[in-house]
Amino acid sequence: MNDLIDEHAPNLKKFFEEKPHIKSAISAADGNMYYIPYLPDGKYGRAYWIRTDWLNKLGLDMPETVEDYEKVLRAFKTQDPNGNGQADEVPYFARQWPELIRLVTLWDGRSSGSDTYHDFMVEDGKLAHPYAGEGYREGIKNLARWYADGLVDAEIFTRGSSARDFLLSENLGGSTHDWFASTSGYNRLSADIEGFEFKAMAPPASVSGKRIEEHRRIPIKPDGWAIGGMNKHPVETIKYFDFWFTEEGRRLANFGVEGMHYDMVDGKAIFKPEFLDQGPVNRSLYQVGSQLQGRGYFQDYGYEIQWSNEFALEGIALYDEGDYLIDQFLGVAFNADEQKVYDRYWGSVRDYMLERQQAWVLGNGDVEAEWDDYTAQLEKKGLGKVLEVMQSAYDRQYAK
Ligand code: CA
Repeated sequence: MNDLIDEHAPNLKKFFEEKPHIKSAISAADGNMYYIPYLPDGKYGRAYWIRTDWLNKLGLDMPETVEDYEKVLRAFKTQDPNGNGQADEVPYFARQWPELIRLVTLWDGRSSGSDTYHDFMVEDGKLAHPYAGEGYREGIKNLARWYADGLVDAEIFTRGSSARDFLLSENLGGSTHDWFASTSGYNRLSADIEGFEFKAMAPPASVSGKRIEEHRRIPIKPDGWAIGGMNKHPVETIKYFDFWFTEEGRRLANFGVEGMHYDMVDGKAIFKPEFLDQGPVNRSLYQVGSQLQGRGYFQDYGYEIQWSNEFALEGIALYDEGDYLIDQFLGVAFNADEQKVYDRYWGSVRDYMLERQQAWVLGNGDVEAEWDDYTAQLEKKGLGKVLEVMQSAYDRQYAK
C-alpha cells in the first residue's frame, strides 16, 4: 500500500510519519505495508487489585513490596477476613492462569514481552525469551512455594474465565491482576457484601526494589483491513481507508454520530447520558458500527474514560503517577527462510516450557534441581535457532 498511501491518502501518510515505530511494526520483510491495522489507544490494561476492606479489617497496610504482599496474602488465608469461621479465602486468583506466572516479575523475572502471553521480549536490542531467564527461575520457585502454602488458588490452572466473578461474588477472592475498567465494576458488590471494596494497588516492589507493571495495551492489533489483488478500484479503496483517519472519520469510528450518540462540548465528543445509560457502552457502540475491531482505525481513549468508574480512574491515576509501564516487543515479520526455522522449532520449545512451568508450580519437580537440564533441553529443542531468526528479523525491521 506504500505508493497508494503516498499518492492518495494524506491522513494515513501523516499518521505514519508521526508514528514511524508503527510503520516499522506493520511493515513486511520486503519493507512494504500490506494492511491498515486497528490501533488501540490508551496505555493501561491490567493492574493489581486487592480487597482493601480486608486489609482494614485485619489492620494491614497496602503492600509495598513482594514481602509485604506475601504477608498480606498469608493473612487473608489464615485470619478469616470474610468472617465465616472457615479458612476458605482464596488469596490470589486469576481468570487467566498466565496472570499467576506474571507474578515472576516480583522476583525480577518476566512472563512476556508484549500483551500476548508467553511472548518473546527485547532487552537492549537483543531478543530473549522470558522463560529462560534467571529471574523467572527464582520467581517460579517462589510461586511454587506460594501455591503449596495455599496463597494461590488451588484451581488456578482450571477455574478459568469465571474465576473473578465467582470468587468476588462469593466473598472469597482477595487479590488478582486484571483489567481496570471491568474489575473496578465489581465494587457494585458492596450492595450485597458489607464493606466490600476492591481497589487497584501499585505493583509491589520486587526483591531488588523494582516496581513494574508488565502488562499494557499494545498499540497495534493484527486486526484491520487490506486491499485484495483483484480489487479494480484500489485508489477509491485507499481513499475510503484514509477517511477513517480524518478527524471526522476517527470520531465516527469512536463515538458514533454527532447529535445522536454524542455532542461536541469544548471541542470534545461527549456521549449523551441516555446513550451511556443504554447498557454496556462497548456493546451499544458496536451496534451502531463504532469501535469495530475489524476496521483499520485509530481508537480514541476518550471514549472509554467517560464510562470508567471512580475506582478505575483512581487506579489509573496511581499507575500514571508511579510510571510503572515498561517497553513492549511489537513483533517481527519473518522472511520465508526465517519463518521455516520458527515453524519447525518454536512449537515444541513452547510446549516444553509450559509443561515444565505448570509442573513446577504444582510441585511436580524442583526448579532449582532441574534448571540446568531444562535450559539444556531448550537448546536441544531449538530455542537458540528460533532466537537467531527472531533477531535477524528484528534487526532488519527496527534497526533503521
Ligand atoms: Ca473465611
